[in-house]
Amino acid sequence: MIKSEGAIPLYHFDTLGRASNLAHFITTRTGGVSLPPYNSLNLGLHTNDNSDQVLANRSLLAEATGIAKENFLYASQVHSGDVKIIDSMAIENGILSQNPRTDATITNLPGICLIVMVADCVPVLLFDPVKRVIAVIHAGWRGTVHQIASITVRTMAEHFGCDPADIISGIGPSIGPCCYEVGEDVRDFVSQSFGTTEGYLIRKNVSPKPYFDLWYANHKQLTDNGLKSENIETSEICTQCHSDIFFSSRASGGVTGRFAAGICIKQV
Ligand SMILES: [Zn+2]
Repeated sequence: MIKSEGAIPLYHFDTLGRASNLAHFITTRTGGVSLPPYNSLNLGLHTNDNSDQVLANRSLLAEATGIAKENFLYASQVHSGDVKIIDSMAIENGILSQNPRTDATITNLPGICLIVMVADCVPVLLFDPVKRVIAVIHAGWRGTVHQIASITVRTMAEHFGCDPADIISGIGPSIGPCCYEVGEDVRDFVSQSFGTTEGYLIRKNVSPKPYFDLWYANHKQLTDNGLKSENIETSEICTQCHSDIFFSSRASGGVTGRFAAGICIKQV
């Protein structure tokens, strides 16, 4: 990933950055107006932060990216496997201001900025440069065992005719296998969903509990559904290890803000 400096510093994937007429970004904690423990660019309205300050932060992000703030789609994320297609009918029906309950969104409409908000969960961005279709995915452990990345790629193929071999993807900053200790209950979900825990759960001497590798689990769902490994960029930045840069729920005892990953087909 590369970082651009401005009033709001943003990270960008190298792979997606090479795509033409596409905007995408990952925000950090820096550049907003929220006070501790939400300092400072908290984009999550579902936190206990002052909502006026969150809305001010969203306006600052719109200004920094040059995308009209009414064209951002912030979903109400519920740790599901639900994927929503954002078509012109949905736009006409006002979905952009309705915070739809879903954990992945897909569109081929230029000018619409799909957003995923996270603090340890995995943000995944997808772009098919041939059919010109974008998607964002919110994948915490629940979304990951619901195989939301697989469902999203399949929906792109079925609904928009995307060839997964064309799709470019970025797996963003999130809690890494270095830190993501999980309970034994998660082990059952993992083995039920994937038929194995091999590669997904890691045993370490420091703890009797396993560590979940969400990066591997989401990368594998993408390649299992036809994406080429060379078209997937994993940032491999752990949010708990870098909670000075990114919001981390684990690092903050659950009380913190949300950073965002966004993607938008430019209007030409
Ligand atoms: Zn870590």
